[in-house]
Amino acid sequence: HFGYDSGYELSDRQERKKRDMTPPQRMAKLEDKSMYRTGFLGQEADFINYEAIVSTSDDQFAITPGYIQKDWIENGRHYYHYKMDVPIFNFFAFLSGKYEVLKENYKGINIEVYYHPTHNKNVEIMQKAVEKSLDYYKQEFSPYQYRQVRIIEFPRYASFAQSFSNTIPYSEDIGFIADLRDEDNIDWVSFVTAHEMGHQWWGHQVTPANVQGSAVLSESLSEYSAYLVMEQLYGEHHLRKFLKYEMDRYLRRRSGEILEEMPLMRAENQTYIHYPKGGVVMYSLKDRLGEKKFNSALRMFLEEFQYKSDPYPTTLDLIRHIKAVASSDDMKFIDDMFAKITLFDLKTKKATATKLANGNYQVELTIEADKYYADGKGEESKDVVDDYFDIGIFSSDPDKAKDDSHVLKFDKEFVKTGENTFSFEVKELPKFAGIDPYIKMIDR
Ligand SMILES: [Zn+2]
Repeated sequence: HFGYDSGYELSDRQERKKRDMTPPQRMAKLEDKSMYRTGFLGQEADFINYEAIVSTSDDQFAITPGYIQKDWIENGRHYYHYKMDVPIFNFFAFLSGKYEVLKENYKGINIEVYYHPTHNKNVEIMQKAVEKSLDYYKQEFSPYQYRQVRIIEFPRYASFAQSFSNTIPYSEDIGFIADLRDEDNIDWVSFVTAHEMGHQWWGHQVTPANVQGSAVLSESLSEYSAYLVMEQLYGEHHLRKFLKYEMDRYLRRRSGEILEEMPLMRAENQTYIHYPKGGVVMYSLKDRLGEKKFNSALRMFLEEFQYKSDPYPTTLDLIRHIKAVASSDDMKFIDDMFAKITLFDLKTKKATATKLANGNYQVELTIEADKYYADGKGEESKDVVDDYFDIGIFSSDPDKAKDDSHVLKFDKEFVKTGENTFSFEVKELPKFAGIDPYIKMIDR
């Protein structure tokens, strides 16, 4: 690259404000078709043929995307020749270190985890999450485009993981030395692994146009994909902890927005929107439309734009595919989720249980529901609630659940604005009851 590259500017609004810098350049508008030929990772190139020769200290192993062709020692340096056999996006990394490696051939794909010799506690958890991700994403979305997946540890100068073609650098901090001994904690190691695996599809097979909402196509869809892997690993009830955390993250950060909160489809590199809100919205759409149907929309979106750069897709394309599989009853909800900033206010006002002569319990529930639309500055206006929501009754704390044995009732019921009363008969003494217990709705 020659000249000024705005990609290296400090882009975080808060960080810029701290340094008395002007707010970052706003993103191109979603409707700006002149940007549909520019991918979100830069304007330098589209898909490229990738080949690299990397040298490092003679006792180290060097890694970059592609498959190793050969390696040799020359003048005390260790050389590695890598080549990728399919076009990749113009996006790559180099790593080098003295690694131990966990290797496995899983259904024809080489899974390799490179780690510091003493940081071996979580490598099998990562391996398992890669397996589950491959199984699920291949089945639901499309084939995996490479013959190999490599996760590579790097020191905690930074705390992130990132997905390059067949190559996932992963900070020791959030993965290799993370403490997962307390089973009540969220298994972030599997989650981050599944999220980065998601990018091999969302980001590397489908690359968004560099306009508002681009991160929804890469980050929200990877976040959603990772939820599904977590569901496979731990069950639906476990996701409650997760979604609760995500929702808190969104609600806390939106109150700190200094410029303008955007609706999901127009998010402008606002991490609190495209990660937690985006993931929750995709998950609630899956819940509403059904997993098969929602994933088929994602699959058709992927099919239309796989490895395409003329044009790159936008959130308008994703929404078009979701609406194509939805019924007319779902349209308002889809617009509420993508085109508006929608907040529910769902409260369980009263819950009582009375023992019946037949040994069952009669549960009376009073629920209050409201819905608001917020504008970019947080001003709210009221809208009516008239939709179906989960109502759950549990025999023990759903936060502590290891399986579904505590679920006495879990179904969707019609809820309208204001006070709603329900009456149910359940088989055991209930301890917890409420609306939307798994937190699939954005609830302020
Ligand atoms: Zn990501």
